[in-house]
Amino acid sequence: SLKITDACVNCDVCEPVCPNKAISLGEEYYVIDPALCTECVGHHDQPQCVEVCPVECIVPDPDHAETRDDLFHKYQSLVSIR
Ligand code: SF4
Ligand code: SF4
Repeated sequence: SLKITDACVNCDVCEPVCPNKAISLGEEYYVIDPALCTECVGHHDQPQCVEVCPVECIVPDPDHAETRDDLFHKYQSLVSIR
């Protein structure tokens, strides 16, 4: 999963581009749900939120480090429950 740091300026451009609806407004700034973020694996070549964020505050989450296989399995399980 990726995570959003406190450098976030709450501009809201990342939330609509997430294919997994993993991004929402948290208590102070936007947050990524690690259970839903596939780092865009299964949908896009690049993380879409990182592409659009104007302040580059979206980074790998060291508490939720995953391999590409892990991320693809998460994508598959998310698709199957929809
Ligand atoms: Fe959503 Fe992709 Fe960003 Fe993860 S990397 S929060 S799946 S847009
Ligand atoms: Fe925050 Fe970046 Fe998302 Fe804007 S695009 S809300 S600055 S994480």
